[in-house]
Amino acid sequence: MSNFNEILGERLKKLRAQDLYRELRWIDSPPGRLLQTGTQILLNFASNDYLGLANEPALKEAAKKAVERYGAGAGASRLITGSVTPQSELEEALTQFKGTEAALSFGSGYAAAQGAIVALISKQDLVIVDRLVHACIVDATRLSGATLRVFAHNDVADLEHVLEKAQTKRAGTGNTLIITESVFSMDGDHAPLRELVLLKERYGAWLMVDEAHATGLYGPHRRGLAEELGVADHIEVQMGTLSKALGAAGGYICGSRALVDLLINRARPFIFSTAPVPAAAAAATAGIRFVQSVAGEERRKRLWTRARELSQLIGFSEDRLSAIRPLVVGDERRAMEQAAALRARGFLVPAIRFPAVAHGSARLRLTLSASHTAEDVQLLAQTLLELGLAPGHGQNGQSASQCASPLPVSEGLSNDA
Ligand SMILES: *Cc1c(COP(=O)(O)O)cnc(C)c1O
Repeated sequence: MSNFNEILGERLKKLRAQDLYRELRWIDSPPGRLLQTGTQILLNFASNDYLGLANEPALKEAAKKAVERYGAGAGASRLITGSVTPQSELEEALTQFKGTEAALSFGSGYAAAQGAIVALISKQDLVIVDRLVHACIVDATRLSGATLRVFAHNDVADLEHVLEKAQTKRAGTGNTLIITESVFSMDGDHAPLRELVLLKERYGAWLMVDEAHATGLYGPHRRGLAEELGVADHIEVQMGTLSKALGAAGGYICGSRALVDLLINRARPFIFSTAPVPAAAAAATAGIRFVQSVAGEERRKRLWTRARELSQLIGFSEDRLSAIRPLVVGDERRAMEQAAALRARGFLVPAIRFPAVAHGSARLRLTLSASHTAEDVQLLAQTLLELGLAPGHGQNGQSASQCASPLPVSEGLSNDA
Protein backbone atom coordinates (compact mmCIF):
# COMPACT_ATOMS: atom_id res chain seq x y z
CA MET A 1 0.00 0.00 0.00
CA SER A 2 1.12 3.52 -0.69
CA ASN A 3 0.80 6.31 1.83
CA PHE A 4 -2.98 6.46 1.32
CA ASN A 5 -3.99 5.95 4.96
CA GLU A 6 -1.23 8.23 6.19
CA ILE A 7 -2.51 11.10 4.09
CA LEU A 8 -6.07 10.49 5.22
CA GLY A 9 -4.88 10.28 8.82
CA GLU A 10 -3.32 13.73 8.48
CA ARG A 11 -6.59 15.13 7.17
CA LEU A 12 -8.54 13.59 10.03
CA LYS A 13 -6.06 15.00 12.51
CA LYS A 14 -6.61 18.44 11.08
CA LEU A 15 -10.38 18.08 11.45
CA ARG A 16 -9.95 17.11 15.10
CA ALA A 17 -7.67 20.09 15.72
CA GLN A 18 -10.33 22.39 14.27
CA ASP A 19 -13.11 20.78 16.36
CA LEU A 20 -14.76 19.73 13.11
CA TYR A 21 -14.36 15.97 13.48
CA ARG A 22 -17.56 13.94 13.32
CA GLU A 23 -18.30 10.42 14.41
CA LEU A 24 -21.26 8.12 14.22
CA ARG A 25 -23.62 7.59 17.09
CA TRP A 26 -25.74 4.45 17.09
CA ILE A 27 -29.41 4.42 17.90
CA ASP A 28 -31.43 1.38 18.79
CA SER A 29 -34.99 2.68 18.64
CA PRO A 30 -37.42 4.11 16.10
CA PRO A 31 -37.18 7.83 15.38
CA GLY A 32 -39.37 9.53 17.95
CA ARG A 33 -39.59 11.57 21.09
CA LEU A 34 -37.15 9.26 22.89
CA LEU A 35 -34.05 7.70 21.43
CA GLN A 36 -32.14 4.81 22.90
CA THR A 37 -28.40 5.02 22.39
CA GLY A 38 -26.42 2.38 24.22
CA THR A 39 -27.80 2.35 27.73
CA GLN A 40 -28.88 5.98 27.65
CA ILE A 41 -32.33 7.23 26.70
CA LEU A 42 -32.34 10.71 25.24
CA LEU A 43 -35.15 13.18 24.77
CA ASN A 44 -34.89 13.93 21.06
CA PHE A 45 -34.67 17.60 20.07
CA ALA A 46 -32.59 16.84 16.99
CA SER A 47 -34.95 15.37 14.43
CA ASN A 48 -36.70 16.89 11.40
CA ASP A 49 -39.64 14.52 11.93
CA TYR A 50 -41.69 17.57 12.91
CA LEU A 51 -45.08 15.87 13.06
CA GLY A 52 -43.89 12.58 14.50
CA LEU A 53 -44.87 10.65 11.37
CA ALA A 54 -41.71 8.60 10.85
CA ASN A 55 -42.97 6.00 13.29
CA GLU A 56 -46.70 6.51 12.63
CA PRO A 57 -48.75 3.30 12.18
CA ALA A 58 -50.48 4.55 9.00
CA LEU A 59 -47.12 5.11 7.28
CA LYS A 60 -45.62 1.84 8.52
CA GLU A 61 -48.71 -0.08 7.40
CA ALA A 62 -48.51 1.47 3.93
CA ALA A 63 -44.81 0.57 3.70
CA LYS A 64 -45.47 -3.02 4.82
CA LYS A 65 -48.25 -3.49 2.28
CA ALA A 66 -46.01 -2.17 -0.48
CA VAL A 67 -43.26 -4.60 0.54
CA GLU A 68 -45.72 -7.51 0.49
CA ARG A 69 -47.12 -6.60 -2.89
CA TYR A 70 -44.09 -5.11 -4.71
CA GLY A 71 -41.06 -6.48 -2.90
CA ALA A 72 -38.17 -4.94 -1.03
CA GLY A 73 -36.20 -3.38 -3.86
CA ALA A 74 -37.05 -1.70 -7.15
CA GLY A 75 -34.62 -3.65 -9.33
CA ALA A 76 -33.73 -0.92 -11.82
CA SER A 77 -34.27 2.71 -12.68
CA ARG A 78 -37.79 3.70 -13.65
CA LEU A 79 -36.96 4.35 -17.28
CA ILE A 80 -35.54 0.85 -17.63
CA THR A 81 -38.19 -1.38 -16.02
CA GLY A 82 -41.12 0.98 -15.54
CA SER A 83 -42.75 2.58 -12.53
CA VAL A 84 -44.70 0.58 -9.97
CA THR A 85 -48.10 1.66 -8.68
CA PRO A 86 -46.83 3.14 -5.37
CA GLN A 87 -44.74 5.57 -7.45
CA SER A 88 -47.62 6.69 -9.65
CA GLU A 89 -49.82 7.01 -6.55
CA LEU A 90 -47.18 9.14 -4.88
CA GLU A 91 -46.87 11.46 -7.87
CA GLU A 92 -50.64 11.77 -8.15
CA ALA A 93 -50.83 12.54 -4.43
CA LEU A 94 -48.05 15.12 -4.78
CA THR A 95 -49.74 16.78 -7.75
CA GLN A 96 -53.00 17.13 -5.84
CA PHE A 97 -51.31 18.06 -2.58
CA LYS A 98 -49.22 20.82 -4.12
CA GLY A 99 -51.88 21.90 -6.64
CA THR A 100 -49.49 21.78 -9.58
CA GLU A 101 -49.80 20.31 -13.07
CA ALA A 102 -47.28 17.58 -12.39
CA ALA A 103 -44.80 16.10 -9.93
CA LEU A 104 -41.74 13.89 -10.03
CA SER A 105 -40.31 12.00 -7.06
CA PHE A 106 -36.64 11.27 -6.46
CA GLY A 107 -34.68 9.03 -4.11
CA SER A 108 -33.90 12.00 -1.86
CA GLY A 109 -34.28 15.75 -1.61
CA TYR A 110 -30.59 16.01 -2.39
CA ALA A 111 -31.11 14.09 -5.63
CA ALA A 112 -34.17 16.20 -6.52
CA ALA A 113 -32.16 19.42 -6.24
CA GLN A 114 -29.28 18.02 -8.22
CA GLY A 115 -31.54 16.54 -10.88
CA ALA A 116 -33.57 19.68 -11.38
CA ILE A 117 -30.82 22.29 -11.30
CA VAL A 118 -28.44 20.45 -13.59
CA ALA A 119 -31.28 19.64 -16.01
CA LEU A 120 -32.52 23.23 -16.19
CA ILE A 121 -29.29 25.17 -16.15
CA SER A 122 -26.11 25.14 -18.17
CA LYS A 123 -22.86 27.01 -18.65
CA GLN A 124 -24.25 30.18 -20.22
CA ASP A 125 -26.85 30.61 -17.44
CA LEU A 126 -26.76 32.45 -14.14
CA VAL A 127 -27.84 31.05 -10.77
CA ILE A 128 -28.35 33.42 -7.85
CA VAL A 129 -28.78 31.81 -4.44
CA ASP A 130 -29.46 33.04 -0.92
CA ARG A 131 -26.22 32.87 1.02
CA LEU A 132 -27.63 30.24 3.41
CA VAL A 133 -29.11 27.76 0.94
CA HIS A 134 -28.54 24.05 1.55
CA ALA A 135 -25.41 22.34 0.25
CA CYS A 136 -27.41 20.33 -2.31
CA ILE A 137 -28.26 23.56 -4.14
CA VAL A 138 -24.72 24.87 -4.14
CA ASP A 139 -23.30 21.51 -5.23
CA ALA A 140 -25.82 21.19 -8.06
CA THR A 141 -25.15 24.71 -9.30
CA ARG A 142 -21.43 24.04 -9.37
CA LEU A 143 -22.05 20.82 -11.26
CA SER A 144 -24.20 22.64 -13.82
CA GLY A 145 -21.28 24.84 -14.83
CA ALA A 146 -23.44 27.97 -14.60
CA THR A 147 -22.20 31.19 -13.06
CA LEU A 148 -23.05 31.22 -9.35
CA ARG A 149 -23.81 34.45 -7.53
CA VAL A 150 -24.89 34.84 -3.92
CA PHE A 151 -27.15 37.41 -2.28
CA ALA A 152 -27.12 38.30 1.40
CA HIS A 153 -29.47 36.20 3.48
CA ASN A 154 -33.13 37.15 2.93
CA ASP A 155 -31.95 40.50 1.54
CA VAL A 156 -34.17 41.48 -1.38
CA ALA A 157 -32.29 44.71 -2.03
CA ASP A 158 -29.03 42.81 -2.36
CA LEU A 159 -30.67 40.35 -4.75
CA GLU A 160 -31.85 43.26 -6.88
CA HIS A 161 -28.33 44.64 -6.86
CA VAL A 162 -26.96 41.28 -8.09
CA LEU A 163 -29.68 41.04 -10.76
CA GLU A 164 -29.02 44.54 -12.00
CA LYS A 165 -25.30 44.03 -12.26
CA ALA A 166 -25.73 40.71 -14.00
CA GLN A 167 -28.18 42.15 -16.48
CA THR A 168 -25.90 44.92 -17.65
CA LYS A 169 -22.96 42.58 -17.92
CA ARG A 170 -24.65 39.64 -19.54
CA ALA A 171 -27.39 41.20 -21.68
CA GLY A 172 -29.11 38.56 -23.77
CA THR A 173 -27.11 35.54 -22.70
CA GLY A 174 -28.79 32.62 -21.00
CA ASN A 175 -31.45 32.31 -18.32
CA THR A 176 -31.34 33.39 -14.71
CA LEU A 177 -32.51 31.10 -11.90
CA ILE A 178 -32.97 32.42 -8.37
CA ILE A 179 -32.95 29.78 -5.61
CA THR A 180 -33.91 30.04 -1.96
CA GLU A 181 -35.23 27.88 0.83
CA SER A 182 -38.59 28.92 2.24
CA VAL A 183 -37.90 28.03 5.89
CA PHE A 184 -34.14 27.91 6.40
CA SER A 185 -32.79 24.64 7.70
CA MET A 186 -30.24 25.88 10.22
CA ASP A 187 -31.90 29.18 11.22
CA GLY A 188 -35.61 28.44 11.02
CA ASP A 189 -36.36 31.88 9.59
CA HIS A 190 -38.60 32.55 6.60
CA ALA A 191 -37.70 33.83 3.13
CA PRO A 192 -39.55 36.93 1.87
CA LEU A 193 -41.16 34.94 -0.94
CA ARG A 194 -43.61 37.65 -2.04
CA GLU A 195 -40.85 40.16 -2.58
CA LEU A 196 -38.69 37.55 -4.30
CA VAL A 197 -41.53 36.73 -6.70
CA LEU A 198 -42.06 40.42 -7.56
CA LEU A 199 -38.38 40.81 -8.25
CA LYS A 200 -37.90 37.70 -10.34
CA GLU A 201 -40.90 38.69 -12.48
CA ARG A 202 -39.54 42.18 -12.96
CA TYR A 203 -36.21 40.78 -14.14
CA GLY A 204 -37.59 37.87 -16.13
CA ALA A 205 -35.79 35.33 -13.95
CA TRP A 206 -37.01 31.90 -12.85
CA LEU A 207 -37.51 30.99 -9.19
CA MET A 208 -36.86 27.69 -7.42
CA VAL A 209 -37.91 27.30 -3.79
CA ASP A 210 -36.77 24.47 -1.54
CA GLU A 211 -39.58 23.80 0.95
CA ALA A 212 -37.76 20.98 2.78
CA HIS A 213 -38.61 22.45 6.20
CA ALA A 214 -42.04 23.85 5.29
CA THR A 215 -43.82 21.07 3.39
CA GLY A 216 -46.62 19.70 5.53
CA LEU A 217 -46.39 22.55 8.03
CA TYR A 218 -47.57 25.82 6.46
CA GLY A 219 -50.49 27.01 4.36
CA PRO A 220 -54.21 26.11 4.32
CA HIS A 221 -53.43 22.82 2.53
CA ARG A 222 -50.02 22.41 4.29
CA ARG A 223 -48.31 22.82 0.94
CA GLY A 224 -45.64 25.01 2.40
CA LEU A 225 -44.71 28.63 3.01
CA ALA A 226 -45.32 29.59 -0.64
CA GLU A 227 -48.95 28.60 -0.22
CA GLU A 228 -49.22 30.46 3.06
CA LEU A 229 -47.90 33.60 1.37
CA GLY A 230 -50.11 33.05 -1.70
CA VAL A 231 -47.29 32.88 -4.25
CA ALA A 232 -46.96 29.17 -5.07
CA ASP A 233 -48.34 29.65 -8.61
CA HIS A 234 -45.52 32.06 -9.40
CA ILE A 235 -42.72 29.65 -8.54
CA GLU A 236 -41.40 27.74 -11.54
CA VAL A 237 -39.68 24.97 -9.56
CA GLN A 238 -41.19 23.82 -6.26
CA MET A 239 -38.87 21.45 -4.50
CA GLY A 240 -39.16 19.59 -1.23
CA THR A 241 -38.40 16.43 0.63
CA LEU A 242 -40.62 13.57 1.71
CA SER A 243 -38.29 12.82 4.61
CA LYS A 244 -38.97 15.59 7.13
CA ALA A 245 -42.52 16.55 8.18
CA LEU A 246 -43.89 13.90 5.79
CA GLY A 247 -42.08 11.21 7.75
CA ALA A 248 -40.91 8.99 4.87
CA ALA A 249 -37.99 9.23 2.44
CA GLY A 250 -37.40 10.80 -0.95
CA GLY A 251 -37.58 14.17 -2.63
CA TYR A 252 -39.89 15.86 -5.12
CA ILE A 253 -40.10 18.52 -7.78
CA CYS A 254 -43.54 19.96 -8.52
CA GLY A 255 -44.48 22.37 -11.28
CA SER A 256 -45.62 22.43 -14.88
CA ARG A 257 -46.04 19.37 -17.10
CA ALA A 258 -43.19 20.68 -19.27
CA LEU A 259 -40.90 20.89 -16.24
CA VAL A 260 -41.61 17.31 -15.20
CA ASP A 261 -41.31 15.99 -18.76
CA LEU A 262 -37.95 17.71 -19.09
CA LEU A 263 -36.78 16.20 -15.80
CA ILE A 264 -37.83 12.70 -16.86
CA ASN A 265 -35.60 13.21 -19.90
CA ARG A 266 -32.74 15.10 -18.35
CA ALA A 267 -32.49 14.71 -14.56
CA ARG A 268 -29.48 12.47 -14.13
CA PRO A 269 -30.17 11.19 -10.60
CA PHE A 270 -33.60 10.13 -11.89
CA ILE A 271 -32.26 8.47 -15.02
CA PHE A 272 -29.10 6.85 -13.67
CA SER A 273 -30.24 5.71 -10.23
CA THR A 274 -32.32 2.70 -9.26
CA ALA A 275 -35.87 3.72 -8.37
CA PRO A 276 -36.56 4.28 -4.66
CA VAL A 277 -37.97 1.22 -2.90
CA PRO A 278 -41.75 0.92 -3.32
CA ALA A 279 -42.17 1.04 0.47
CA ALA A 280 -40.69 4.54 0.59
CA ALA A 281 -43.13 5.82 -2.01
CA ALA A 282 -46.08 4.18 -0.24
CA ALA A 283 -45.05 5.63 3.13
CA ALA A 284 -44.67 9.09 1.58
CA THR A 285 -48.16 8.91 0.06
CA ALA A 286 -49.53 7.94 3.48
CA GLY A 287 -47.59 10.87 4.98
CA ILE A 288 -49.13 13.32 2.49
CA ARG A 289 -52.61 11.99 3.28
CA PHE A 290 -51.90 12.20 6.99
CA VAL A 291 -50.87 15.87 6.96
CA GLN A 292 -54.04 16.71 5.02
CA SER A 293 -56.26 14.90 7.53
CA VAL A 294 -57.88 16.11 10.75
CA ALA A 295 -55.28 14.14 12.71
CA GLY A 296 -52.58 15.91 10.72
CA GLU A 297 -54.03 19.30 11.58
CA GLU A 298 -54.02 18.31 15.28
CA ARG A 299 -50.35 17.41 15.05
CA ARG A 300 -49.57 20.70 13.38
CA LYS A 301 -51.38 22.63 16.10
CA ARG A 302 -49.54 20.70 18.77
CA LEU A 303 -46.20 21.46 17.11
CA TRP A 304 -46.91 25.21 17.09
CA THR A 305 -48.10 25.06 20.69
CA ARG A 306 -44.77 23.48 21.71
CA ALA A 307 -42.88 26.07 19.66
CA ARG A 308 -44.69 28.94 21.40
CA GLU A 309 -44.13 27.36 24.81
CA LEU A 310 -40.41 27.07 24.20
CA SER A 311 -40.18 30.66 22.95
CA GLN A 312 -41.93 31.92 26.06
CA LEU A 313 -39.95 29.80 28.47
CA ILE A 314 -36.50 30.69 27.25
CA GLY A 315 -37.18 34.09 25.76
CA PHE A 316 -36.51 33.92 22.05
CA SER A 317 -36.77 37.47 20.82
CA GLU A 318 -38.41 37.00 17.42
CA ASP A 319 -41.78 35.36 17.45
CA ARG A 320 -41.87 33.57 14.11
CA LEU A 321 -43.63 30.25 13.80
CA SER A 322 -40.85 27.74 13.36
CA ALA A 323 -39.97 24.26 14.56
CA ILE A 324 -36.26 25.08 14.20
CA ARG A 325 -34.75 27.21 16.95
CA PRO A 326 -30.99 27.73 16.79
CA LEU A 327 -28.97 28.85 19.79
CA VAL A 328 -25.93 30.38 18.16
CA VAL A 329 -22.76 29.74 20.11
CA GLY A 330 -20.08 30.79 17.63
CA ASP A 331 -17.08 28.75 18.67
CA GLU A 332 -17.08 25.15 17.43
CA ARG A 333 -15.61 23.59 20.55
CA ARG A 334 -17.94 25.44 22.85
CA ALA A 335 -20.94 24.28 20.82
CA MET A 336 -19.76 20.69 21.16
CA GLU A 337 -19.23 21.08 24.88
CA GLN A 338 -22.71 22.49 25.30
CA ALA A 339 -24.22 19.64 23.27
CA ALA A 340 -22.31 17.16 25.46
CA ALA A 341 -23.56 18.87 28.64
CA LEU A 342 -27.12 18.56 27.37
CA ARG A 343 -26.57 14.93 26.41
CA ALA A 344 -25.26 14.18 29.89
CA ARG A 345 -28.59 15.48 31.19
CA GLY A 346 -30.58 13.36 28.77
CA PHE A 347 -31.25 15.73 25.87
CA LEU A 348 -30.19 15.16 22.29
CA VAL A 349 -29.55 18.59 20.76
CA PRO A 350 -27.01 18.60 17.94
CA ALA A 351 -24.08 20.98 17.71
CA ILE A 352 -24.09 22.18 14.11
CA ARG A 353 -20.71 23.18 12.75
CA PHE A 354 -18.93 24.04 9.52
CA PRO A 355 -19.58 23.17 6.73
CA ALA A 356 -23.29 22.99 7.63
CA VAL A 357 -22.96 26.57 8.88
CA ALA A 358 -20.18 29.14 8.52
CA HIS A 359 -16.95 28.93 10.50
CA GLY A 360 -17.47 30.63 13.84
CA SER A 361 -21.26 30.39 13.76
CA ALA A 362 -21.59 26.96 15.34
CA ARG A 363 -24.86 26.48 17.12
CA LEU A 364 -27.15 24.21 19.05
CA ARG A 365 -30.01 23.45 16.70
CA LEU A 366 -33.15 22.70 18.66
CA THR A 367 -35.99 21.17 16.73
CA LEU A 368 -39.46 20.60 18.06
CA SER A 369 -41.90 17.90 17.15
CA ALA A 370 -45.59 17.32 17.68
CA SER A 371 -44.57 14.21 19.59
CA HIS A 372 -43.05 16.32 22.39
CA THR A 373 -45.15 16.94 25.46
CA ALA A 374 -45.46 20.23 27.30
CA GLU A 375 -43.35 18.65 30.08
CA ASP A 376 -40.58 17.78 27.61
CA VAL A 377 -40.35 21.38 26.57
CA GLN A 378 -40.42 22.58 30.18
CA LEU A 379 -37.62 20.20 31.10
CA LEU A 380 -35.54 21.34 28.15
CA ALA A 381 -36.11 25.02 28.92
CA GLN A 382 -35.26 24.52 32.58
CA THR A 383 -32.04 22.72 31.66
CA LEU A 384 -31.04 25.37 29.11
CA LEU A 385 -31.57 28.05 31.74
CA GLU A 386 -29.62 26.11 34.38
CA LEU A 387 -26.71 25.61 32.01
CA GLY A 388 -26.80 29.26 31.00
CA LEU A 389 -27.56 28.35 27.38
CA ALA A 390 -30.83 30.20 26.80
CA PRO A 391 -30.72 33.36 24.69
CA GLY A 392 -30.15 36.44 26.83
CA HIS A 393 -29.41 34.29 29.89
CA GLY A 394 -25.80 33.42 29.38
CA GLN A 395 -23.33 32.41 26.74
CA ASN A 396 -25.59 32.00 23.74
CA GLY A 397 -28.17 33.99 21.94
CA GLN A 398 -26.54 35.86 19.11
CA SER A 399 -29.18 36.11 16.43
CA ALA A 400 -28.36 33.52 13.81
CA SER A 401 -28.81 35.90 10.91
CA GLN A 402 -26.11 38.20 12.28
CA CYS A 403 -23.57 35.48 11.65
CA ALA A 404 -21.32 34.91 8.73
CA SER A 405 -22.40 32.28 6.29
CA PRO A 406 -21.13 29.17 4.54
CA LEU A 407 -20.77 30.99 1.22
CA PRO A 408 -18.69 34.09 0.57
CA VAL A 409 -20.65 37.24 -0.26
CA SER A 410 -21.96 37.89 -3.73
CA GLU A 411 -18.82 39.33 -5.24
CA GLY A 412 -16.42 36.89 -6.74
CA LEU A 413 -18.07 33.55 -6.11
CA SER A 414 -18.32 32.25 -9.60
CA ASN A 415 -17.56 29.08 -11.43
CA ASP A 416 -15.91 30.78 -14.32
CA ALA A 417 -13.18 32.10 -12.03
C1 LIG B 1 -32.72 17.95 4.25
C2 LIG B 1 -32.67 18.96 3.18
C3 LIG B 1 -32.56 18.61 1.85
C4 LIG B 1 -32.29 17.20 1.41
O1 LIG B 1 -33.39 16.38 1.58
P1 LIG B 1 -33.15 14.81 1.80
O2 LIG B 1 -34.44 14.20 1.46
O3 LIG B 1 -32.77 14.64 3.23
O4 LIG B 1 -32.04 14.42 0.88
C5 LIG B 1 -32.64 19.60 0.90
N1 LIG B 1 -32.78 20.88 1.25
C6 LIG B 1 -32.85 21.27 2.52
C7 LIG B 1 -33.02 22.70 2.85
C8 LIG B 1 -32.79 20.32 3.54
O5 LIG B 1 -32.81 20.71 4.80
